[in-house]
Amino acid sequence: MVRQQKLLIPQMMSWRQTSHQRRNELSFTNVMKPNHRRCVSCRAIAPKPNLWRVVRQHDTGTVQLDQGLGRSAYLCPTTSCLSMAQKKNRLSKALRVSVSETIYQQLWQRLQSSSSLETGSNRSMTQS
Ligand SMILES: [Zn+2]
Repeated sequence: MVRQQKLLIPQMMSWRQTSHQRRNELSFTNVMKPNHRRCVSCRAIAPKPNLWRVVRQHDTGTVQLDQGLGRSAYLCPTTSCLSMAQKKNRLSKALRVSVSETIYQQLWQRLQSSSSLETGSNRSMTQS
């Protein structure tokens, strides 16, 4: 977790430096295609399968990942978007319910497992 907080600082700075509000309006008018969703952190629009989906269950009000019926928030599967969402509580705001640490931890684990798969295969290649 410490490593991720270090990563956060330059990303937050670059995020502030980009005048992303103007880009928002452009992408909103031009590129809102069917089956595309907007990331709650960087506001980029991406095909739905490329984003993580966090769902507030319609019946129980509990928050879970990937599946379910109810209000949904979408997030790019990247370190920057995940840390920004966590820092700024974006998922909670989008879903209008408090999103527990567990949800964020599950997403961090997904990121870590996908990146450790890559480094793991590199390592085994250099060993053999
Ligand atoms: Zn994003």
